[in-house]
Amino acid sequence: MEEDTIKAKLFDKAHNKVSRWGPNHPGAKELAKDYTSGQQLLGVFSVVSNVVTSIITLIYLVRLFQWSYIFSVGVSIVLGILGADVLSGLIHWFADSYGSVDLPVVGKAFIRPFREHHIDPTAITRHDFIETNGNNFLVTFPGYLIAMYNFAFLPTSHVIKWYYVYCFLFALSVFINLTNQIHKYSHTYSGLPWWVTLLQDCHIILPKHHHRTHHVAPHETYFCITTGWCNYPFERLGVWTGLETLIFWITKIKPRQDDLAWAKKGQDIK
Ligand SMILES: [Zn+2]
Ligand SMILES: [Zn+2]
Repeated sequence: MEEDTIKAKLFDKAHNKVSRWGPNHPGAKELAKDYTSGQQLLGVFSVVSNVVTSIITLIYLVRLFQWSYIFSVGVSIVLGILGADVLSGLIHWFADSYGSVDLPVVGKAFIRPFREHHIDPTAITRHDFIETNGNNFLVTFPGYLIAMYNFAFLPTSHVIKWYYVYCFLFALSVFINLTNQIHKYSHTYSGLPWWVTLLQDCHIILPKHHHRTHHVAPHETYFCITTGWCNYPFERLGVWTGLETLIFWITKIKPRQDDLAWAKKGQDIK
């Protein structure tokens, strides 16, 4: 079907009171219901344990810090932030493009928020801190536990030898934790603290206008959502189309079929 015809059908449907996106989209309503109290409980556990272990890890790192390390620590932190942006892109691209909400365990917990976000991009602004950030805090929690174990039980010489790697991993984990909050800010158009707007305007975190490029259907580019620094080079290098071509060549699976199916839900579009 031609793109214009699809748009026209969507327009007609919208005027027949079936929303093509937003909280009243039939698919969005269905997906919003799938956030369970179990996921909420796991989110609370993840956030609390993550915050405690990350603070302890930071205290260990600060205690071993020396001013002669300052330049290398700065480089490690920037690389950690860059790494978080790359990972945000890879995970976002993979979850948007492949898998399904019906997959056991990961479907409802990890794929569902990505499908919901495309058909109701403002839903994230109505999510509380736990629903927004629980998954990411869960992913980085084991890393903080391992770091704490190493700091407590391995000789100090080991930690000093790998000090910059720990700083890199710490910055990486902190920015993975912050990714969904930063993403939420990029969809929030009122009531943001002035310092968040400043960080967005300086492109230190994902700016609103920059992220809008991703939200143009069929959602096939600008997947990096921490700082967005990697989006332009990845687009120029054709990273996502290259990976999708490779996956199609190996598996014959086309990207974003499940995402498209959710977008069409209740819209009567072939
Ligand atoms: Zn997306
Ligand atoms: Zn978004």
